Amino acid sequence: MVVIDNRGLILSFSSAAEAMFGYAEHEVVGEDVSILMPSPDRERHDGYLERYHHTGERRIIGIGRVTTARRRDGSTFPIELSIGEARSEDGQIFTGFIRDLTERQKTERRLQDLQGELTHVSRVSAMGTLAAALAHELNQPLTAIANYMEGARDLVGATDPETIAMIREALDEAAQQSVRAGQIVRRLREFIARGEAEKRIESLSKLVTEANALALVGAGEQGIEVTVSLDPSADQVLVDRIQVQQVLLNLIRNAIEAMHDAPVRRLEITSRAEGESLVHMMVADSGGGLDPDVAARLFEPFLSTKDGGMGLGLSICRTIIEAQGGRIWAEPSPLGGTAFHFTLIASTPVEAAND
Ligand code: ADP
Repeated sequence: MVVIDNRGLILSFSSAAEAMFGYAEHEVVGEDVSILMPSPDRERHDGYLERYHHTGERRIIGIGRVTTARRRDGSTFPIELSIGEARSEDGQIFTGFIRDLTERQKTERRLQDLQGELTHVSRVSAMGTLAAALAHELNQPLTAIANYMEGARDLVGATDPETIAMIREALDEAAQQSVRAGQIVRRLREFIARGEAEKRIESLSKLVTEANALALVGAGEQGIEVTVSLDPSADQVLVDRIQVQQVLLNLIRNAIEAMHDAPVRRLEITSRAEGESLVHMMVADSGGGLDPDVAARLFEPFLSTKDGGMGLGLSICRTIIEAQGGRIWAEPSPLGGTAFHFTLIASTPVEAAND
């Protein structure tokens, strides 16, 4: 538990907080509470307080959220933060209750990994079954078309009306069979589309903060500097939250892995409105960049340069993003490594109200 005054200065720091952050109470009392936060909250916290004093609008007080905190040694860790407000004789104070989520999130991450594998396995076997069924079903009309066409070819050149009628009949049959083949393909497509994502209006900043906290478990020790800058005008998106978080997790983990041996480790997550209907997101790293052999086939399944890598992350990312009406691609990163870009469908608050 950490108590601050209305200017953000620490008034008291519990012994559990001492253990969690690595500071002794006497070192932090009187300091700005932003020392316990990573960027960008670190720089913005004074502004958050000021806005609250000014507008009285509660964005976190009494609501609570999952976010990231910073230990004395600079490492970051995921937390659940709830803030209460009280008035004492000396004025207004805020109490922060902080729960370290590292352990819980490790478990959750493991669960998510397992879930991801499971989804994948079922997807692969479902696709295998579908492919076999498709091959079988398509084979029939295709064989029939080939037969009719060959028959017709052998008869071409005849002039008697009877033979010409047979040619016409063979061509008609071939046309019907190709319509049937088309129907089979269409049915298959409908079947796949039925497993579509469940889309809702979500806050991108909440979604990103959570995914980021989850992905960064353990990354703090690797000294990665993370910058998150989200366009507040493009916060509402129409997405399946879990699936988009899965995409962010994959991209962030890939970025962290790509920076393993890099001298500078910087990760940047940004969003901005693109036109009226899209939100453009970027996850950029300062790692070694893409292997040229990989670049052209980046989103294909089972393509990996890692020992023990499954090479499925990016192909799943693409499936998810495209199913939600977006696009995903990679470019060289402004930080020197790779930048993954993707688009999501924006939703205006007006639509939210009508939903
Ligand atoms: P996996 O991580 O299991 O290898 P992915 O589909 O997520 O599978 O990634 C495929 C390959 O793309 C990786 O093995 C790696 O070579 C390359 N890659 C992905 N993200 C990055 C990145 N941020 N920087 C450099 N290479 C990357």
